[in-house]
Amino acid sequence: MTAVSPRPPLTLRMRIEDNVAIVANDGGLAEGTVLPDGIPGAGLALRDKVPQGHKVALRDIAEGEVVLRYAVPIGYALKAIPAGSWVHERLLQMPAARALEGLPIATVKPAVVEPLDGYAFEGYRNKDGSVGTRNIFAITTTVQCVAGVVAQAVARIKAELLPRYPNVDDVIGLEHSYGCGVAIDAPDAVIPIRTLKNISLNPNFGGEVMVVSLGCEKLQPARLLPPGSFPITDERDPASGPETICLQDDVHVGFMSMLEDILQSAKPHLERLNARRRETVPAAELVVGVQCGGSDAFSGVTANPAVGFCADLLVRAGATIMFSENTEVRDAVEQLTSRAATPEVADAIIRELGWYDRYLDRGRVDRSANTTPGNKAGGLSNIAEKAMGSIIKSGSSAISHVLAPGDKLKRDQRGLVYAATPASDFICGTLQLAAGMNLHIFTTGRGTPYGLAECPVVKVATRTDLARRWHDLMDVNAGRIADGEATIEETGWEMFRLLLDVASGRKKTWAEHWKLHNSLVLFNPAPVT
Ligand code: CA
Repeated sequence: MTAVSPRPPLTLRMRIEDNVAIVANDGGLAEGTVLPDGIPGAGLALRDKVPQGHKVALRDIAEGEVVLRYAVPIGYALKAIPAGSWVHERLLQMPAARALEGLPIATVKPAVVEPLDGYAFEGYRNKDGSVGTRNIFAITTTVQCVAGVVAQAVARIKAELLPRYPNVDDVIGLEHSYGCGVAIDAPDAVIPIRTLKNISLNPNFGGEVMVVSLGCEKLQPARLLPPGSFPITDERDPASGPETICLQDDVHVGFMSMLEDILQSAKPHLERLNARRRETVPAAELVVGVQCGGSDAFSGVTANPAVGFCADLLVRAGATIMFSENTEVRDAVEQLTSRAATPEVADAIIRELGWYDRYLDRGRVDRSANTTPGNKAGGLSNIAEKAMGSIIKSGSSAISHVLAPGDKLKRDQRGLVYAATPASDFICGTLQLAAGMNLHIFTTGRGTPYGLAECPVVKVATRTDLARRWHDLMDVNAGRIADGEATIEETGWEMFRLLLDVASGRKKTWAEHWKLHNSLVLFNPAPVT
């Protein structure tokens, strides 16, 4: 390795009102470092070693005084903090969450922007008009009991059948932990059930629904996919419900007969999928889910603002972009309600976040349970600071629709959508798949190898150090923004073009290349038995 000459000290301040800035340098800055001219805090000598991504006080902050980042309070000083000090989370009292009453409703009128015409990708057009970015055969399961059998069936389909169907990208089992041992009639059970149903109908699966069921489980196939509630691609009577292979059926004598039945039933689905071809469709057919995981203080400086710029491009192109993560937007609720396109959208935001407040309350925690040890090591003091960096992913458009957890977007619901989900990476990704996501952007500062079998995941590093070390896991290096080598706009455009390439199958993401697949994790707020 060649030695890299150390960069001059660099601090980044988000807004002129802020009384803290973050240290950008790899490895942080040593005690005694004098901040050079031309950067926030110029002339100050650091009183402590300040790690990368962590905050430095730009002026003396009195005990009880507000600490501002993004021009919003991220905490109150628990004691006097002299200028040049490291402002770590133990020095800050977190502000209370904004009440959900008296919020500004649809007050912001976004600037009128030019439509972005002429961008297209090559996708698989489905009968319902939606478009897949991949051509995947997905086997739905009603209960965890069948997971082992389905895994073996999938392995055999891949080995024995898939070589005959070269246009089919993959075969997967939609495995999950739900289906039995649960209070299936509890009001909140609608969430995991509709999530699973709507994932089965994800645009990347071509409308080919095939269910493997055990037989005695609570989540019966007709309850999961009621007749008439989903398209049927073969000649069966639509009133007959989903095509189901039931392992407890008398016809099955021994394990091999179960596998054979699944393999034989898979063939017509694979044949129909194999006959499909990509066609040129407008960029408006993209349904992009965004989320962040393993966040650090750079997330809200580099990667998330670039995603936000890309989100605005997608909205201008007529596409759909979904942002999520209830606990990470809760502290910015007034920004959401004021950006709602209509009062009805603002009401829906308040309804979903209020429901989530009560859900956390039942578990005797609040939104502050969100931050991880890694977030804090990365410089994020608390959820108030994390939220301000997280919400930037949504760009500047008006919020046009709100989805409850597990709900699916309708064809006419486009633009910037708030899909209300927990912030847990796998649960959020699972719910965004149910919403109809055909492409995923995931930003990370600490680093995560996150990936999904159901949909390509474009991963964006917030720091060059991470992008360098994880060179074969990160698809975009937004750390170049902090390095002064690329602008937010350039990185946003780079992402937009990469999305079209990945959607078209011209490029694979690193997670696809290595086949890094996280499990589906259903959000089940209802009791288990
Ligand atoms: Ca997350």
